[in-house]
Amino acid sequence: MNIARREECHSAEALFWEKIAKGDVRCRLCPHLCNISPGKYGICGARKNSEGELFSINYGKIRAAIDPVEKKPLFHWRPGSMIFSIGTFGCNLFCPFCQNAHLSRSRNGSGLECADPDDVLGMVIESGINSVAFTYNEPSIWFEFVLETSRLLRSNAIATVLVTNGYICPDPLEILLQTTDAMNVDIKGFSDETYSRLGGSLEPVLNTIYYAWSKKIHVEVTHLVVPGINDSFEEFRSMIGWLKDVSPAIPLHISRYFPAYEWDRPPTAMKELQLRIDLASRHLDFVYSGNIGGANNTFCPKCGTIAVSRGPFYEIDVFAGHEGECLSCKTPLGIVM
Ligand code: SF4
Repeated sequence: MNIARREECHSAEALFWEKIAKGDVRCRLCPHLCNISPGKYGICGARKNSEGELFSINYGKIRAAIDPVEKKPLFHWRPGSMIFSIGTFGCNLFCPFCQNAHLSRSRNGSGLECADPDDVLGMVIESGINSVAFTYNEPSIWFEFVLETSRLLRSNAIATVLVTNGYICPDPLEILLQTTDAMNVDIKGFSDETYSRLGGSLEPVLNTIYYAWSKKIHVEVTHLVVPGINDSFEEFRSMIGWLKDVSPAIPLHISRYFPAYEWDRPPTAMKELQLRIDLASRHLDFVYSGNIGGANNTFCPKCGTIAVSRGPFYEIDVFAGHEGECLSCKTPLGIVM
């Protein structure tokens, strides 16, 4: 997609930071709370202390594509639609199995194009698509650009989706959610021990999911099963218990890992994946597999009527009602049409 709209990328002063001693600043965007000296970067690589002020250095640096919304993955939100997808560089977690390491681990965004929020709006309108996903890398550390763009999109009746690791502080999250329509949040494990291997912690991620769900944002969750990282079945069982307590209606995508970046273990064994799908399906209403092809249909949990059929190549047929309810027994299925 040709997205070169500007010769130079504009940078922007960051939000959510404070001055501390001797020109150092503290970033308060995510739970890392980085202390950053002049000329240095936060550990996400996306924020720089320039002469005692914090700047977002990935502001306006983008790559874009158009994807089926099911690829995010979102299965209960505008099923069968296409979504304008954009991302930038940097990440605040450090997963050795990252599938987008060329973006998440980049420190300068080389190869990305320059575009301001107005440019994004123009491209989206031109495409005829009415939703935008901030995806490919972690959108919360692109905070200023995502916020400005999503506000502009909202005022033009275009929806915003975040595909996120959920590792963000509560205050910026609250602001971001004001212009967010749907989210897919990754739960990468269910202990601080697992998260510490990825450079984070569990609680902020759970807080993000709980808060977004309580604010009636459409939320789906993804869990990639990575051998050697999150094999513990007990952890998985705890995760399912927690999700069930939030709501059994949260769609869960359990995905198969394939070797990527620094992780070369063999792909997740199908048996391990199936064990987890079986357990999750006993407690949650909507459990889907990811990265294994095959059908992934939505059935009404009450009467078993099919509501959405999905083929392996994004062939989607929707049989739900206008309010996302089962056509047969009228049970609400949490499908946003
Ligand atoms: S957003 Fe980046 S700079 Fe800010 S606290 Fe998180 S990792 Fe550090």
